[in-house]
Amino acid sequence: MDTEVLFLVSNKAFSIVQKNASEFGNEVEFRMNHENNSINTDPLHDNLVASIANKVYFEPKESGPVLYNLFGGPELQSLHPSSPECLLVSMKRIDAIVTYNAFGSLRNEPFTTEEPSPFKFSGLWITPAFFNHSCVDYNASWGVYGDLMVIRALKPIMKGEEILIKYMEPGEEEARKNYMRNHHFICGCRLCAFESTEVRGRVRRAKLQSELLDSLAKLNQGLKSSKSGLKQARNVVKKLSNLRSNAPNFNFSLTTPPVINFGSELFKYGHFSECRELLTKIYSIQKDNGNIKQAIGIGVNILRTSLALNEQQKVKEWIATLKADLVVAFGSVLPMQIFGKETLDALKLQGIQFFE
Ligand SMILES: [Zn+2]
Repeated sequence: MDTEVLFLVSNKAFSIVQKNASEFGNEVEFRMNHENNSINTDPLHDNLVASIANKVYFEPKESGPVLYNLFGGPELQSLHPSSPECLLVSMKRIDAIVTYNAFGSLRNEPFTTEEPSPFKFSGLWITPAFFNHSCVDYNASWGVYGDLMVIRALKPIMKGEEILIKYMEPGEEEARKNYMRNHHFICGCRLCAFESTEVRGRVRRAKLQSELLDSLAKLNQGLKSSKSGLKQARNVVKKLSNLRSNAPNFNFSLTTPPVINFGSELFKYGHFSECRELLTKIYSIQKDNGNIKQAIGIGVNILRTSLALNEQQKVKEWIATLKADLVVAFGSVLPMQIFGKETLDALKLQGIQFFE
């Protein structure tokens, strides 16, 4: 066992800008800045560039050499820390470094609400910026607490083994591929290898996804069209479920927000068994690919659905599963208070204690 490293890094932000920062310092989920890299329309990006430029201006010796050593894209070579250029403010270089290295808020995809996450930030952490990406074969996860980034091993990591983190969710293939192209890297994970062997899955998936959006829109239009909307959505989700039947755990088309929204519609209309069946599939995909936080988000709702079905044994099992997942993801079961507030309330109503 002495060759294994239990890897844990905590790194203070080189610079961070926030919007509606959490008052409580709760952990939320994040991903690398995911926007178009040539035209940045995100004001957080611009604010971060400005904040870093200030830092270099006022503390050139302390900040320039570490900052300019970061990757700035194929056109700009990293600067050697002893280079005199390191002491100057270069907006072009800082802009590129932010594009390639900054981390930002993950677009939250909660199950029950459409509200965007109130936590939004963009930040640069020097050490984490050096970690490479893998879509499904990563071995460490990252989270941000205030301005501190914590990187945690998800499994024992051997000495000499590369630490890999995830920059983005594996769900949307097209978005992932664009991101990689724009950021000049390729990923050698099992999912990317699998996708490269697929001939025409992408077009069909996109078509089904758009059909699903149509039917969900119908569902939201009112009572009369709701029934046909539900029926149509059910058909599309069934077709989506059958995709990648030779590799069902790579069927990320089931993990996208529209499918998850469909799950919450099923719950709303009282189709609890069907809802749980779908959620269980999504949970497996997330869990088997190491997306433990996403799995927890789904698991919370499977628990809720089991409660609605009044299946005590399942409720017990899912409480145990969620507790184990929470410990792996956060080192504690307490974040359930953030992810599963409604479910905790529903449990309480039935006199069941989650934290016992
Ligand atoms: Zn990949």
